[in-house]
Amino acid sequence: MPDNWIAGAWVGARAGGRREIRCPADGTLVAEVDESGPEDTEAAIAAAREAFDTGPWRDTSARERGNLLLRLADLLERDTAVIAKAESLDTGKRFVESEYDVADVVSVVRHFGHIADAEAGRMVDTGNPGVVSRIVHEPVGVCGLITPWNYPLLQVSWKVAPCLAAGNTFVLKPSELTPHTAIHLMKLLDEAGLPAGVANLVLGDGANAGALLSEDPRVDLVSFTGGLATGKRIMATASNTAKRIALELGGKNPNIVFADADYDTALDFALTAVFLHSGQVCSAGARLVVEESLHHRLVDDIVERAQRIRLGGPFDDKAETGPLTSAAHRDKVEAYVAAGLAEGAELRCGGKRPEDPALADGFYYLPTVLDRCTSSMSVTQDESFGPVLTVESFADEDEAVRIANDSIYGLAGAVWTGDAGKGQRVAARLRMGTVWINDYHPYVAQAEWGGYKQSGIGRELGHAGLEEYRETKHIWHNIAPEPQHWFSS
Ligand code: NAD
Repeated sequence: MPDNWIAGAWVGARAGGRREIRCPADGTLVAEVDESGPEDTEAAIAAAREAFDTGPWRDTSARERGNLLLRLADLLERDTAVIAKAESLDTGKRFVESEYDVADVVSVVRHFGHIADAEAGRMVDTGNPGVVSRIVHEPVGVCGLITPWNYPLLQVSWKVAPCLAAGNTFVLKPSELTPHTAIHLMKLLDEAGLPAGVANLVLGDGANAGALLSEDPRVDLVSFTGGLATGKRIMATASNTAKRIALELGGKNPNIVFADADYDTALDFALTAVFLHSGQVCSAGARLVVEESLHHRLVDDIVERAQRIRLGGPFDDKAETGPLTSAAHRDKVEAYVAAGLAEGAELRCGGKRPEDPALADGFYYLPTVLDRCTSSMSVTQDESFGPVLTVESFADEDEAVRIANDSIYGLAGAVWTGDAGKGQRVAARLRMGTVWINDYHPYVAQAEWGGYKQSGIGRELGHAGLEEYRETKHIWHNIAPEPQHWFSS
């Protein structure tokens, strides 16, 4: 079956390519899918442009758009098992985590379904009774949506839901490694009653299927989630046609632990922060910043537990985390660790592939702890996007903040302390889009998500997530026009 969804029909890649999708946990063939090129993306952009300019979608009321998203949320919930299985096969992540992810997707779609008509604009008091002046929101137009492989459908939902709530049309290009849940989403949007051409999907890699989305003048907005280097390239290209852009990029997120923290909880979360999904989480707490007096105890205990983390495939009930997404990604993580060791970091555990023959066909890498790191090392500055924890220590509150902020990134971070005032003080000084106090990782669809500094531009989720996809217009209506005789007549 063809895999590109363009103008309300499934079509094969004009570029003629095919790609094998293999499960990263054991290399088994999941399926073959179309691999598109620029000609496919061109067709999808044309369809989205026509649907926006002449189709019925733009005139659909905000409430109807919201209702469509609420129907979609129900369909996603209905198909949870199918979607979670597809997500696990594409990513190699544990099935139970994929089930949590689908629940998150449902709550994101419901959130935007509920707020689609929450704020219709406002009247402006001009002080002139002969004028009606109002601020209205309108869709931006055609949106190019580009997403990564770590939380495939969740990242897609953060873009597709507000994009549709605001009345736009779109071309989605998911990661070439994880296409299946995006394909399923198109089926559900069709079932929910979305008009043809509003949602379009092209599969393929970034250079061939993705690049046109930031080049083509018919695309009004590009929303991208992925790595910093790709984001910069997209931003540069999009500047040629002055597109609106939203970028959710990488992070190297500090997890600050003070000696007065609740020790058992801070220890437990230090592991979850970095090793969840084998570290392939943009907000992973991969940079432990610990108070000197607690350093040895905390790191010893983290190492002891990290060595016991059970690796395994998506349907292995005993597994606690899974593989990396690809051989190329594991190579990157290995090179990152080697560079850290060459810089003088001390390897406390991991730093290699597991020896268990049962894992030999997957792209596994052992949970790794690098101690004795400093801010000047590349391992503390660069994102590994793998199961690698770097450790730095501090003497006082000021130094903790200075180390944590010493980064080009500013996505997320956490502070652990039993002193509520200290927690608030440090949180206020951290230059990050999300700061957790005595917690790590939770988020809700109702709260904004996004990065400071080079972690991104713009916000997803919350109300700002919807605003990213709206233009705001001032309509001034003179309701009593009459000559003004400014000039002699
Ligand atoms: P990536 O940048 O390699 O790819 C992301 C997407 O961009 C893929 O779909 C890819 O095909 C596409 N792409 C690549 N080159 C392109 C181009 N020239 N034009 C258009 N599209 C192009 O990133 P990745 O490896 O898939 O994802 C990992 C990165 O994503 C990490 O850095 C992670 O921190 C980041 N991320 C950030 C967030 C966030 O919320 N800030 C969330 C998830 C992931």
